[in-house]
Amino acid sequence: MQSLTNRKKVVGKKEMTWVEKLYLPAIFGGMRITLKHMFSKKTTISYPEQKREFSQIYRGMHVLKRDEKGAERCTACGLCAVACPAEAITMVAAERKKGEENLYREEKYAAVYEINMLRCIFCGDCEDACPKESIFLTDRIVPSDFERNEFVYGKDKLVETLENPIDISKRQTAEVLEFKKNKKLTHNR
Ligand code: SF4
Ligand code: SF4
Repeated sequence: MQSLTNRKKVVGKKEMTWVEKLYLPAIFGGMRITLKHMFSKKTTISYPEQKREFSQIYRGMHVLKRDEKGAERCTACGLCAVACPAEAITMVAAERKKGEENLYREEKYAAVYEINMLRCIFCGDCEDACPKESIFLTDRIVPSDFERNEFVYGKDKLVETLENPIDISKRQTAEVLEFKKNKKLTHNR
């Protein structure tokens, strides 16, 4: 039969020589490879005790940011959900009531905001689509779990806490920061 790759090898049933029957050349050959790897640079690390340095623009678990006064920035416009190619984001919008200005920055906010981390492909399109500087991907890893339901992250896991705000400025390239300064662009208003 014609070969598609020319990588096939015909295996013969050649009689072993008496040297091969001793198996010593094969044993020493194997030991030579083992010794070579013992002294060569390791490519693996002992995770989780050791951790690799991440790229500054690594795209991991999302955060929903608050503004400088601590109010949630998300206005439940749904642009992130529309931009999401994996349809991982869902939300329920609500009207801000009088007296809630310190909680929600805009008149409309997300009463429910969920991301299904099993669907998410960490592409960052939600971050790019957000006009309110609300959603960002971070360098945090989504922890493993045993139940599928546990991977649907709600606001309790996504909104940053007042005590531990998450600094995403290091992940923004100079070009992105420059782009976001331009208030003439609808995206930045
Ligand atoms: S990172 Fe991509 S796949 Fe994940 S929620 Fe955002 S847009 Fe959807
Ligand atoms: S995170 Fe941004 S894009 Fe998504 S609903 Fe909130 S304001 Fe709109």
